[in-house]
Amino acid sequence: MSAASVVVYEDTYGSETAGFGADAGFCLKAVEHLLVMFTEARLRFGQAATRCEDCGSYMAVAGVCTHCDWEDPNYQPTERQPVSDEERARRMATPCTPSSDISTFMSPHDL
Ligand SMILES: [Zn+2]
Repeated sequence: MSAASVVVYEDTYGSETAGFGADAGFCLKAVEHLLVMFTEARLRFGQAATRCEDCGSYMAVAGVCTHCDWEDPNYQPTERQPVSDEERARRMATPCTPSSDISTFMSPHDL
C-alpha cells in the first residue's frame, strides 16, 4: 500500500507541480482507489481474518469458502439477538430511506 500511495502521489500531485497535469479523471480514480484500499485495510485491521484453509482465499463467508466450497469445521454462527414485538413495531413505524442508491451496488464478482 505504501508503494501504491507513492505512485498515486507522484502521478497526481507530482505531475501537477512539474507543469504537466495528468488527466483529471485518471487522478480522481487513482485517489478514489487508494482511499478504498486504505478503508478496506482499516476495516480488516483488528478483525480476525477468516481464510480458507484449502486455497487461502479471504472469501470464506459464514464458514464456507465461496471460491472452492471448503467448509470450516469450527465455524460457529453468530447468535441473533431476539427482537421484541414492541421493538419491531417501533422500527417499522418509519419507512427505511437509504442514504444512497444501494439498489445499484455492484461487487467485483458482478463484473
Ligand atoms: Zn477456498
